[in-house]
Amino acid sequence: MYLLRKILTEGGNAFEPPKEDIKMKRSIFTALAVAAVLSCTACGKTEVGKADVPVSTAGTQTTASPDTASLTDEAASAETATDTYQDTTAETSAAKEVTTVTEEAVSVGGGENTEASAATQPQTQAQTRSRDTAPSPGDADYAPAPVQYDIPGITYIQGTLIANKSYSLPADFNPGLDSTCENQFYKLQNDAAQQGLNIWFASGFRSYDYQAQIYNNYVARDGQALADTYSARPGYSEHQSGLAIDVNQIDDSFIGTPEAVWLENHCHEYGFILRYPRGKESITGYQYESWHIRYVGTDLSYAVHDSGLTLEEYFGIDSAYKE
Ligand SMILES: [Zn+2]
Repeated sequence: MYLLRKILTEGGNAFEPPKEDIKMKRSIFTALAVAAVLSCTACGKTEVGKADVPVSTAGTQTTASPDTASLTDEAASAETATDTYQDTTAETSAAKEVTTVTEEAVSVGGGENTEASAATQPQTQAQTRSRDTAPSPGDADYAPAPVQYDIPGITYIQGTLIANKSYSLPADFNPGLDSTCENQFYKLQNDAAQQGLNIWFASGFRSYDYQAQIYNNYVARDGQALADTYSARPGYSEHQSGLAIDVNQIDDSFIGTPEAVWLENHCHEYGFILRYPRGKESITGYQYESWHIRYVGTDLSYAVHDSGLTLEEYFGIDSAYKE
C-alpha cells in the first residue's frame, strides 16, 4: 500500500515516454506508475473485420477541429488514481456503492421483479457474484446499460455506443467518465480487494484533445503504423466515450497477474467486458490489452462474455480506419 501510494504520487508527468526506458533506471514500481499515467491509449492495433448489421448513427461522423479540451480532466483523472486507491481501503465507499446500485436496480426494474431485490448483503457479494445467468432488473447486482446520447455522430448498435477504428466520436463529445461505469468499477474494485487483490483505477475518460496529444507523442516516437497498433487516433478512442477504464500498470506486465486473471473472469459480473482480448487483435484492431475494460451493463456483458466473442464479432462489425 505504502509503495503504491508512493508510486502513484511519484508517477507524475503524463507526457514522459513510457515503459522500457524508465523501467531500467528506477524501481519497477515507479516505472509502472509512470506508464499508467501516460500510456494506454485507447488501445489499438490495425486491421480488419467484417461488417453488416443494423448500425444506427445519429448523424454524420464529424472530424471537427479540436479545442474542446480538458487536460484538466486528464490531470484530474491521473490524480484520481491515488484517491481511488485510498478509497478502496476506506469502508465507506463500499457502503455507498451498494446503495447507489440498489437504487438504480430498483428504478430500472420498477421495484419488484425477482425474489431477492436488495436482500443480498454486501459481505457475501464476492461469492454470490459468480452466477451463470445475467442478473435481471431488480436484482442487487443488476447493472444498467449506459445512458444513450442523442448526439449526431455517435454510433449505437442495439443501444450500445460503439467507438473503434470504424466508428468515431465527435471531437466535441466530452461526457466525462460515466457515473454508473465509475460506480460499478468501485464495486468491482472492492470485491477484488476482499479477495486480496489490488485493482486500481489508472485511466478513464480522455478528451479528444488529450487523446490527440497522446497519439501524436506515440507517432513521433514509434511512427504511425506502430502507434496505430496500440494507440487510438483522436476521435476513435473508447476512452472518449467515458465508458472505458484502464487499470493498474497499463502495460504487458499486468498480463497473468492474479488481478488480471480475476478481472478477465469477473469483470462481466459488474457490467464490463475485456475489450481487446488476446488473439483477437485483427478483429478489434488493437493489441491485447489485459488492463482495458469497457462498461456496457450486465445484460450485454454477460452475453458477450458467454459468447466468447469480442464486441465487434458480437455485433458483426469491423474496426478499421477507412483511409
Ligand atoms: Zn485503454
